[in-house]
Amino acid sequence: MVEEINNIEKIYEVKNWVFDLDDTLYPPNKTLNNEMGERISNYIMKVAHVDKERADFMKKDFYQRYGATVWGLMNEYEVDPVDFTEDIHKLDLSVLKKDPELRKAIELLPGKKYVFTNGAYQHATGVIKQVGLEGLFEGIFSIREAEYIPKPAQETFMKMFDYFDLIGEECLMFDDNQKNILGAKKAGMKTVWISSNVDNNKYCMSEEADFCDFQAFNCTEFINKIKHVL
Ligand SMILES: [Mg+2]
Repeated sequence: MVEEINNIEKIYEVKNWVFDLDDTLYPPNKTLNNEMGERISNYIMKVAHVDKERADFMKKDFYQRYGATVWGLMNEYEVDPVDFTEDIHKLDLSVLKKDPELRKAIELLPGKKYVFTNGAYQHATGVIKQVGLEGLFEGIFSIREAEYIPKPAQETFMKMFDYFDLIGEECLMFDDNQKNILGAKKAGMKTVWISSNVDNNKYCMSEEADFCDFQAFNCTEFINKIKHVL
């Protein structure tokens, strides 16, 4: 028995499937999140000449006000985004597990699949390999392709559509960040909010109740719920 899902007719229009990377294509991972958090704080301490406590505050503050720490650092400290992005993504990805169930689910989706992340390109290729999703995606649109303007900026969604030659209305976006999901919706995409990250990230909540079309705990769960209409 298939669990009913509201608005399922919206799926009929989807030709392209666009996935966020971190905390969307793998479950939130405390070790990895802590490691990245530490690297960001260390970087802020270095460029802003502040102590750890202040750096931790600035990290959250930038994320909240600019949507990504990199954008805050560029605006307020003239940080080179390439240097910052490469530095903070020097992560040990061996903590991530292969996910054959997710691979099987993504393989069920007809049409093309893409990754659209505010993270670094090399980080995306590393994660995809580590989780066991190589060969599934047509392309990766990272913070580099976005010219360091992160989601949910509308111009970045438009840039991504141009880059892959996509039409927003024909795409479905999976993302754990509610503000990104709202941005995707405004850009015309269908949207699935991946809710497994809710305890981990309190800075990405949308103020609009109607910010998404669908909600699921993870991508595998959602795809399995819609597979009878694919
Ligand atoms: Mg994410």
